Amino acid sequence: MLTVDPASRARAGILHLPHGDVQTPDFMPVGTNATVKALDPDDLRALGAQIILSNTYHLYLRPGHERIARLGGLHTFMGWDRPILTDSGGFQVVSLGPLMKIGEEGARFRSHLDGGEHLFTPERSIEVQEALAPDVAVAFDQPVMPGSTEPREVLRAMERTHRWAVRSLRAHTRADQALFGIAQGGIDPELRAASATWIRSLPFDGINLGGLAGDETPEERNRAVEATIAALEGDGRVRYLMGLGSPLDIIDAVVRGVDLFDSVLPARVARNGQAWVTGGRINLRNARHLDEEGPVDAACDCSACRRFSRGYLAHLFRADELLAYRLLTIHNLRHLSALMGRVRTAIQSGTLAAELPQLRASAGGPGTPRLGDDDEPEEAPPRGAMRPRYADGGIVRTGIKSRAQEPEGR
Ligand SMILES: [Zn+2]
Repeated sequence: MLTVDPASRARAGILHLPHGDVQTPDFMPVGTNATVKALDPDDLRALGAQIILSNTYHLYLRPGHERIARLGGLHTFMGWDRPILTDSGGFQVVSLGPLMKIGEEGARFRSHLDGGEHLFTPERSIEVQEALAPDVAVAFDQPVMPGSTEPREVLRAMERTHRWAVRSLRAHTRADQALFGIAQGGIDPELRAASATWIRSLPFDGINLGGLAGDETPEERNRAVEATIAALEGDGRVRYLMGLGSPLDIIDAVVRGVDLFDSVLPARVARNGQAWVTGGRINLRNARHLDEEGPVDAACDCSACRRFSRGYLAHLFRADELLAYRLLTIHNLRHLSALMGRVRTAIQSGTLAAELPQLRASAGGPGTPRLGDDDEPEEAPPRGAMRPRYADGGIVRTGIKSRAQEPEGR
């Protein structure tokens, strides 16, 4: 069942999965290590999360997919009974930079935890995801930095991703698990269209837009999305843009026909004190909030805004209290979840075009004004999530025992 907005390519639909239905468009909170940082499953249900993402690479390394399978699979392991999607590990492996070597067989890499050597192939990635037992698994791919990769390399990675898509499909055996394929092609509209056409021809259950939400400009991303969606015209399968977390960017992609999103961004900035509120963003580490009686956002119905003042949260952040991270992560994820709900309702009722200016104005988060926080340093832009994290580190490679930085989700 798919409602298409009459004035744009935006769609509203229902994704049927073994652990429940997901109303789209929607945003998936990221639980990298089988937990959305600082939250438990009751928090996630209360803020309206319909589906979460977990990272194959991290769970394969620690605690190990076979252990999670023995403990009943990912749902039982983390106490979450709604749908779960796992990524393929391709993004995390490729972002290991010099710790990784890629070939036709797969990607050989050293663990960021202990330097141990591993080989990820399409078959291995699917085997790990079948053991983890999420509702949705994703084909193994080779993403590249969208804005700064040589065209020849973009083409080579795209063609390899296509061959790996076929191998992922052949390796997948679980009838109770959906498998999504990934279209690549960098920011070249012709390559994006070619990749989408190829992936569309395969019997995947959904189609991911990969290799975006990296170092490209919003204009480059929008053109890449438009070329991809044009090549998917008439295809009813769900479309998922991996790694996008800014509310305004998400609205732009929904209007162009994308249904599903994920990012660590709302949770990560919350841990730094940044609250996404109606019409902008504030930083609760700023002293000006210490005396404020009102909630973080008067328009928000989350458990933090219903019970606590900005002054209290500002105090918690300044005292480095753990509750600060939980409350503000709940708020930012609820802010985005509620926004997605408004977008869905507008598409379903055919009023998206009329409501779009207001939705954009109230979106909050990156790209919206800072509200009275002029003395705060600018946050790093949300782009750059795909920047190789070990470019000049190579900590594990050189044998030093200190832990390399964890390659986070996007
Ligand atoms: Zn709130």
